[in-house]
Amino acid sequence: MSHVFQPGRIGTLPLPHRIVMGAMHLGLESKEDGGAALAEFYAERVRGGAGLIVTGGAAVNAAGAGGADYGVLTDPGFQSRLRRVADVGGIFALQLFHAGSHGVGAVAPSAVRSRLTRSVARPMSVAEIEDTIAEFAAGAASAQRSGFSAVEVMASEGYLIDQFLSPLTNHRSDSWGGDAVGRMKFGVEVVRAVRAAVDLPVIVRFTGADLMPGGVPAAEAARFAAALVDAGADALNVGIGWHESPVPTVQALVPQGKWTSVAAGVARSVDVPVITGNRVNRISQAAEILTAGEVHLVSMSRPFLADPSLIARARDGHRSTVCVGCNQACIDRSLVGSEVSCMVNPRACRELEFPLVRQRSPRRVAVVGGGPAGLQAALTSARSGSQVEVFEASAELGGQFRLARLVPGKADYGVVIEHLGAELRALGGRVHLNRPITTDDLDLMRSYDRLILATGVRPRPVSIPGASLPHVLSYASAFTSPLGSRVVVIGGGGIAVDLAHFASSAGHRVRILHRGKRIAPALGRSTRWVVLDALRRAGVDITGEVTFERISAQGVHFVSASGTSELAPADTVVIAAGQERCADLVEAVRAEGIDHRLVGGAHSASGLDAVRAFADGLTVTTSY
Ligand code: SF4
Repeated sequence: MSHVFQPGRIGTLPLPHRIVMGAMHLGLESKEDGGAALAEFYAERVRGGAGLIVTGGAAVNAAGAGGADYGVLTDPGFQSRLRRVADVGGIFALQLFHAGSHGVGAVAPSAVRSRLTRSVARPMSVAEIEDTIAEFAAGAASAQRSGFSAVEVMASEGYLIDQFLSPLTNHRSDSWGGDAVGRMKFGVEVVRAVRAAVDLPVIVRFTGADLMPGGVPAAEAARFAAALVDAGADALNVGIGWHESPVPTVQALVPQGKWTSVAAGVARSVDVPVITGNRVNRISQAAEILTAGEVHLVSMSRPFLADPSLIARARDGHRSTVCVGCNQACIDRSLVGSEVSCMVNPRACRELEFPLVRQRSPRRVAVVGGGPAGLQAALTSARSGSQVEVFEASAELGGQFRLARLVPGKADYGVVIEHLGAELRALGGRVHLNRPITTDDLDLMRSYDRLILATGVRPRPVSIPGASLPHVLSYASAFTSPLGSRVVVIGGGGIAVDLAHFASSAGHRVRILHRGKRIAPALGRSTRWVVLDALRRAGVDITGEVTFERISAQGVHFVSASGTSELAPADTVVIAAGQERCADLVEAVRAEGIDHRLVGGAHSASGLDAVRAFADGLTVTTSY
């Protein structure tokens, strides 16, 4: 850890340690609350030990906004919200942003179709290019006036500056394109203008490798890095990949620290501090990277959503919860313009709504069920000073996360549960394992001041003839039972996909049969394609629009979309066709008139996912 907590420096700006909180669009930037929620989000991270914090992208003009919920620097309301952020007292760099073809104005160097918005961009005139450069500079100057400590120019992820740099998106023949030097010109001029506009350190988030077929060659990227430094960059923050690139960069299946070698290569060619990031979710891993000595700073973004006190905990020698790389409540929401939060920390971006306050007179709270919803409810109650007891029927906490952690790329789900359990115990919460609550315990339940039922879900049975044959398993038992060499999974949701991934990675031949047109439609946009690609590479066969006839000892008999009867041979058939509430205790408690609240699957199995389960566990305590 010692390398993490060595002071750092960018230009004239001293830094207390070597971790940078990277830019994240939160959806709070345009909230009409005078900046209160935005400032509180950042203030909590400052109190939690964050050093340099790069804000989410601030659009330099209206056309460059990444969506309707982006802040635009020409808007006085956004400027006053930013001043409130700068006033919280941390070390902030304002990120100067223009989305180019992906933005509200859909402008770009050339008329190229955005694969994110599906619209064709309007080519920028020379006057527009010059105005945009001036707007980057004006945005930087406003950041200095507002009290920011640095600025970061967003020249990565496939946004406007990248679009000028790449031969894929810059087809101009004037001096702003044509050859490699012409394509670099826009980014270089932006940095030069920003440098001239401020006395602050200028960081440039630049693309170390765009991972785009036919994109910017490595040698050109290296020349661009050097040119950015010549133009006045005081540090390079190395981004990897465009949003459109066909290579996953930040999803859970990407190995941790995978991209550090790219940043290390950049660091060898420039003489300013280089920042690495993209897939670093633990301080211990950042420490390993810094110990190797190849880069100066490590940027972490989503881990600060998962735990605002990440740095303070590490300083005190405590472990944090981990960002599991699911993208469900952060990147996937920001892609559709919804307010960002975090699956494992549902308070993220809602800090004002759910302040950390202690009750004057502590209550005794019973939580039945130790899955994500129950644990979150227990922890939220314990943080407010309640005396909490969790009753878990099985030998382990975790609920559905105990299964999820077995899926490739999801081992961190187990770490989250360990952390929640440890934090709950540290706050004085008591956990009773192997302690099912039955109707014999209703008097005990009545004795608490508050009763929260988080009894979860169980696999929903199907009415296909043969479903009770011995080689037919529910998804829950399939994760922990021996499977035959040929496995057919019945179901088309996220659990069916997880189970197929789990079984195929263990060497089984897997086929998924499902009724719908589209497999796992609820999986998030940033992740679905990565998971489906992993299944394809593992040889998993997926057949949709089937009508099930029966299950026999030979396998699953079905009618295909074209109307032919087929047999999918199987040694094991797994039913992963949804889930239903475990409602027995709920009904008994209700019948006895015992006051209670329901969270997670106990509340409703419909549309249940881990994001809702955690959020339920947070919100239940405010109204109860
Ligand atoms: Fe990480 Fe998932 Fe939270 Fe996003 S929602 S910060 S990916 S745990």
